[in-house]
Amino acid sequence: MPASFVDLHCHSTASDGTFPPRQLVRLAKEANLSAVALTDHDTIAGIADASDEARKLGIDFLPGIEISCQYPRPGTMHLLGYGIDPNSAVLLDMMRKLITGRDERNEKVVETLQQQGVAISMHEVQETAGGDVIGRPHIAQVLMRKGYVGSIKQAFDKFLGQGGSAYFDKEQLTCRRAIEMIREAHGIAVLAHPVQLRKENFAQLEGEIKNLVDFGLGGIEVIHSDHRDSLIAELQDVAKRFNLLSTGGSDFHGSNKPHIQLGMAGSRKIPREYFDRLRAARASASAH
Ligand code: AMP
Ligand code: FE
Ligand code: FE
Ligand code: ZN
Repeated sequence: MPASFVDLHCHSTASDGTFPPRQLVRLAKEANLSAVALTDHDTIAGIADASDEARKLGIDFLPGIEISCQYPRPGTMHLLGYGIDPNSAVLLDMMRKLITGRDERNEKVVETLQQQGVAISMHEVQETAGGDVIGRPHIAQVLMRKGYVGSIKQAFDKFLGQGGSAYFDKEQLTCRRAIEMIREAHGIAVLAHPVQLRKENFAQLEGEIKNLVDFGLGGIEVIHSDHRDSLIAELQDVAKRFNLLSTGGSDFHGSNKPHIQLGMAGSRKIPREYFDRLRAARASASAH
């Protein structure tokens, strides 16, 4: 059998990606992936379409979500929830709260930009986003379209990122609560792109992972577009020692992250076994 590859981390227009869920799944099929997981920020609004398209095209699918957690600067902590039940009341309630927190943050960003003489409106941002989950990449798109910046990256450097002139944090859950909620929604909690915790050394990173394991973490994203080979090897080792699942994904966002290609984490692909083990773990978790 030929080697088979998957992508377990991607974003659609339901959050801050630029391809609608169905089109994303078609791209996965065209890239010869045998499975894909949709992991939009704070929403499962794209799951029904993506899952239906995957069934039609004969590729395997796992529902997912990505949640930002409270974490000291300059790091950021994101958790992925795989196999979550889309009808879970806990999950729906959490999504509503997170989206409200975003809306409040976005208002502050746009007002601050206006005070700085940048003529953009919340209405333009909403139109650009198209869905309920409105994020900084949408604001960045508007800034780019109106000529205030030349790229999404520049929008983050100058205005929207930590250190930018209109940076605001959104209301976030603690990692403990986020893991609890993912598990209450019958999902498996996975630490996304551990490199973004920006730990000073590997011992500190390992300590943080251990802390999350105590709260119920089920896996770590070993392969990711931001991970170098040496980190991937270290994370694989930690996963083995803590008995965690290894996952991997590109973190594809379409043209909001133009350097990232679906199914590719840098020059690496994500092995099919990551998907199979995750799906099997999800099945045995819900059997209990
Ligand atoms: P938000 O969830 O609205 O706070 O925006 C965070 C999202 O912005 C991340 O998930 C990325 O998709 C994107 N992002 C963060 N930093 C950058 C950057 N420097 N360049 C491009 N996109 C970024
Ligand atoms: Fe994003
Ligand atoms: Fe993330
Ligand atoms: Zn992501």
